Amino acid sequence: MALTLSQLARQRRWVKNRRANGLCLRCNTKIDVNQHRLCEACLAKNRERKRRIRMKKAGMIDEKRVMRIEVIDEGGLKYMRRDCAVRISVHDSGRTLKLFIVGKL
Ligand SMILES: [Zn+2]
Repeated sequence: MALTLSQLARQRRWVKNRRANGLCLRCNTKIDVNQHRLCEACLAKNRERKRRIRMKKAGMIDEKRVMRIEVIDEGGLKYMRRDCAVRISVHDSGRTLKLFIVGKL
């Protein structure tokens, strides 16, 4: 969606105004004007979002997000554990998959 010139001008004024007042462009938290355009919390959220997108693009499993393990065979669900932190590891030249449960969430 393209913005009209007046919409663009309004958007620029809005950003300039926020920056002049030292406010985060996303959540209005007071920030150091000479720093970024976003507060630390919003920057952290951005970093986390970018990390997730990067992992998804690379086809990687995001271990930090996994919180439930299900082992299923022909007979159905054999093992299930929720609210756990896991580490995934591949051994024997890619022939063995190991799931380590490293703690509770
Ligand atoms: Zn913010």
